[in-house]
Amino acid sequence: MKNLKERILELKKEKNAVILAHYYQEADIQDIADYVGDSLGLSQEAMKVDADIILFAGVHFMAETAKILNPTKKVILPDLKAGCSLAESCPPDLFKKFIDEHPDHIVITYVNCSAEIKALSDIVCTSSNALKIVESIPKETPIIFAPDKNLGKYIISKTGRDMQLWDGSCVVHEAFSLDKLIEVHKQYPDATIIAHPESETHILQTASYIGSTAGMIDYVKTNPNNQFIVATEAGILHKMQQEVPHKTLIPAPAKEDNTCACSECGYMKMNTLQKVYDCLLTESPEIDVPENIRKKALVPIERMLELSK
Ligand code: SF4
Repeated sequence: MKNLKERILELKKEKNAVILAHYYQEADIQDIADYVGDSLGLSQEAMKVDADIILFAGVHFMAETAKILNPTKKVILPDLKAGCSLAESCPPDLFKKFIDEHPDHIVITYVNCSAEIKALSDIVCTSSNALKIVESIPKETPIIFAPDKNLGKYIISKTGRDMQLWDGSCVVHEAFSLDKLIEVHKQYPDATIIAHPESETHILQTASYIGSTAGMIDYVKTNPNNQFIVATEAGILHKMQQEVPHKTLIPAPAKEDNTCACSECGYMKMNTLQKVYDCLLTESPEIDVPENIRKKALVPIERMLELSK
């Protein structure tokens, strides 16, 4: 009797499907994916895909981005309820009002937002390229940055740019406890703290390196230290540990006690291996983006991809 992973791989071949998975997916899903990456890597990969079906193992806005880039392909998401607190913190009607209140501003949005928000934007960015994108805008031009205020504050601290920030955030990256982090660092005094820029300022101030998930993986590979405390969603530890099997990786602790004492994204973890199988079998739930929104949202995504080459 074939196991679930074997049946998924068989179905994938039969249906000429490709599986793109985010670093925050559970380990079993990462292991059967054709490509595992961060938002930028996944968007770039989605553009190159030569398959009839893209199964996106991630959250809704990521699958939407894949659909915006691949209108003729079927894009499916194992669980349609896999949303994102950050994307949900930016409703399109309120954001449109915010833009109208700040005329003459360039609108830069972090990729963690809905297709409607992207359609209202001038350029999209990810945590890998946010600094580069902001610095590509002429200095005298004021900027609206949305939806993540923590990433926005970090960019302002690095660039000194005049940016109006949308008041959104990620529940997972705001769940880290500074007190507990200090305690863990006392237990591992030689460990280097690394953090994702969606984390709050007081957490970022403790970090020796701040970067995207892909940037953090590169950092632990190239840094000579052997111990790291990692402040981002705990799913990244799977890929990271594969890259540096001899190094010690400690998840940064969350405020609330939970079983693993680390931060996990409940939305990302809605996808399971069984749901991946069912989704491939039934080719649903399918992601649909209305064509008028898709065309408008494509422009700022393409600008980002062009600037990221
Ligand atoms: S980790 Fe945060 S930003 Fe990423 S999908 Fe989950 S809620 Fe959204």
